[in-house]
Amino acid sequence: QEDHFKKVLSHAKEYGYIFGSSEIYEGLSAVYDYGQNGAELKKNIREYWWKSMVQMHENIVGIDASIFMHPTTWKASGHVDAFNDPLIDNKDSKKRYRADVLIEDYAEKLNQKAQKEIDKAKKRFGDKFNEEEFVTTNARVIRYREEQDRVLKRMARSLEAEDLADVKALIEELEIADPDTGSKNWTDVRQFNLMFGTKLGASADTATDLYLRPETAQGIFVNFLNVQKTGRMKIPFGIAQTGKAFRNEIVARQFIFRMREFEQMEMQFFVRPGEELQWYEHWKETRLKWHLSLGLGEENYRFHDHEKLAHYANAAADIEFNFPFGFKELEGIHSRTDFDLKAHEKFSGKKLQFFDPELNESYVPYVVETSIGLDRMFLAVFSKALEEEELENGSTRTVLKLPAILAPVKAAILPLVKKDGLPEVAERIINELKWDFNVVYDEKDAVGRRYRRQDAAGTPFCITVDHDTLEDDTVTIRDRDTMEQKRVKIAELAGILHQKVDF
Ligand code: ATP
Repeated sequence: QEDHFKKVLSHAKEYGYIFGSSEIYEGLSAVYDYGQNGAELKKNIREYWWKSMVQMHENIVGIDASIFMHPTTWKASGHVDAFNDPLIDNKDSKKRYRADVLIEDYAEKLNQKAQKEIDKAKKRFGDKFNEEEFVTTNARVIRYREEQDRVLKRMARSLEAEDLADVKALIEELEIADPDTGSKNWTDVRQFNLMFGTKLGASADTATDLYLRPETAQGIFVNFLNVQKTGRMKIPFGIAQTGKAFRNEIVARQFIFRMREFEQMEMQFFVRPGEELQWYEHWKETRLKWHLSLGLGEENYRFHDHEKLAHYANAAADIEFNFPFGFKELEGIHSRTDFDLKAHEKFSGKKLQFFDPELNESYVPYVVETSIGLDRMFLAVFSKALEEEELENGSTRTVLKLPAILAPVKAAILPLVKKDGLPEVAERIINELKWDFNVVYDEKDAVGRRYRRQDAAGTPFCITVDHDTLEDDTVTIRDRDTMEQKRVKIAELAGILHQKVDF
């Protein structure tokens, strides 16, 4: 697993997906830049989300709110007072960690131990293996799972009660060590606010303190009435948006999983009070289906229902994904009650209500939100897509099996040789396809090498122009995943690609 993660990092850089920010100056920790391929993949994920959430739902519309917001927004939302993470320093290494993440990592290791037992038994018993029975009867699995449960519950309870001394006691009891140095010499746990502050205005004495938004959601809440009125929206309805959010994260060890500047894709769904839990179930199911539609493997997703609820929620679950470092949160689905709108009513003095013609009454709607990190989604897709595949002839190939609908480049057009008019035909094909698809031209090296290069870059199709093309207007189209090659007419190419890569 660790090895795979290292490969993901180096592959993302080598193929122009992700670079460290300002690398020539040694970079900036937990900040990353997307390269030529990364920007395309990210855009395609964002569009896939937008299309399924906004375009496909008549009652969901999208907005694009600002990163800067009136500072009172963050008082009302609770971020000024309560957007904290429990921080702990290691006295020897002077490194900082999030106390809850250290404990979660410990719990995840127990989960992996249980999974190892299950995998071993699966191998041993083959077809006869009954997983459900095994996990309820095997003493080791039961022990690991119970311990995992105990640890997470105790942490949740202590955090809920803001009993930071107990969080520290738990770290000591579990003998958790500094992941980098192995030292167990910790400071006390204290709260750390995650918002980045900045200033608006020219002179120091008149400038206003602002925050970079730590979540996109508040831009939707403050625009609730604007959108409802101008869009003549009727409850239930949703407002969606994608955009940057900023958090001064303490732990910065997991590549684009946890960044200081990242992008969220959120949808706030406004419902009648009392109907929120039904909608919460609806959105849990709908969002999981969206993930499964990409074909990364059902076994790589699981729900984690929250024990500890944030101050604004009456139900919350994460969709967790099997990242190279274990199952971790990819998306959150939260039933946020009327907390946000009510708080904004209170702080702004403006009514944020909906007149429900069916009930003939006004109320502050309840909110169910779906919130996913675009960068985390990128990491999920990219890390699962990257494979070292053994071929029948004993050799291996590196292949990035990105879903074709998300791949940055849809097809590479390759003249078999650099002469005899083949490059010109390839150029002609590119000029036709480029209106609809991101395609590239490649004439360097033997065609086999070029195929491998495109496999590793994640390009789902290679289209090769050879001497027969000059006779009958046909080309070879090669599928990245099956490596099968088919002969098709040039005129058919656009149709084939539309069928494979459109969504
Ligand atoms: P975590 O517990 O991992 O810090 P969170 O519960 O604070 O995450 P939310 O506030 O629910 O996260 O944010 C919604 C989504 O935004 C998360 O599911 C995640 O995909 C994404 N996200 C949150 N923080 C980051 C970050 N620092 N870098 C990248 N994505 C993030």
